Amino acid sequence: MKTKEKIVFVTGSSRGIGRAIALGFAREGNIVVTHASHPSPESKDVLRQIKRLSPKSNAVYFDITDPNAVARGCAKVISQFGHIDILVNNAGIVRNVLFTKMSGEDWDIVMKTNVYGAFFVTKQLLPGMIASGWGRIIFLSSISGQRGDFGQTNYSASKAALIGFTKSLAKEVARFGITVNAICPGLVDTEILKDVPTSYMETMIKQIPLGRKAQPEEIASLAVYLASPQAGYITGAAIPINGGWM
Ligand code: NDP
Repeated sequence: MKTKEKIVFVTGSSRGIGRAIALGFAREGNIVVTHASHPSPESKDVLRQIKRLSPKSNAVYFDITDPNAVARGCAKVISQFGHIDILVNNAGIVRNVLFTKMSGEDWDIVMKTNVYGAFFVTKQLLPGMIASGWGRIIFLSSISGQRGDFGQTNYSASKAALIGFTKSLAKEVARFGITVNAICPGLVDTEILKDVPTSYMETMIKQIPLGRKAQPEEIASLAVYLASPQAGYITGAAIPINGGWM
């Protein structure tokens, strides 16, 4: 199940699921470009760990909501590595609030980060994959994009958009040897859940047949598998990984 010596770019890999995915690819012998909006102690720590596993790896920092910053950041990556083989569009945020209380700003920032961010990065890195005749693009969608969730109209809409993006792009780029898939996790134990009230978290966990949140590494295993030669016939899929929660 190896994806050895590919160049992998994981957006939002300073912590959480992105960090686990970046480490997962580095452990398999790939060169990994980590990313976050800015250098922080946690992003530097991830890069240190990745470099121990894969010394040619590096980091790049830019705000994915700013198309000019994305273009400059991706140009740096391309000048250092030529092209990216495996792109994981992972960076994402929540702004959970009931729709009746949701501001235009709450809506916009989630769309700009989760949907436009993935659009801007993919736009920059896809041409290199097409030119090389091989590629893997993986989006981090969510169970919320598949079934909706209370207090998450903005987030659910953004994650459903990524599923449509995945399915359409998969059809367009299959002829270039590129697969495109979306991972749809349920609850994963990361900082993104930090503002969820404890009582609501307990209620949600009771509804999960496996009775717990996922660990980021469990999501990372699926990302590494989707990029492997064994997953070469999987494209246009939105794959649930949710402990049986539906
Ligand atoms: P975290 O909050 O732990 O990490 C989010 C990452 O995204 C950070 O590295 C952050 O970097 C980066 N990021 C956020 N905004 C920007 C921006 N404007 N520019 C650049 N980078 C940015 O989240 P998770 O690990 O939990 O989530 C990862 C993905 O998985 C998200 O897309 C999320 O929606 C999805 N997901 C998560 C679930 C969960 O339960 N945890 C469930 C389903 C899906 P920085 O250091 O700059 O802040």
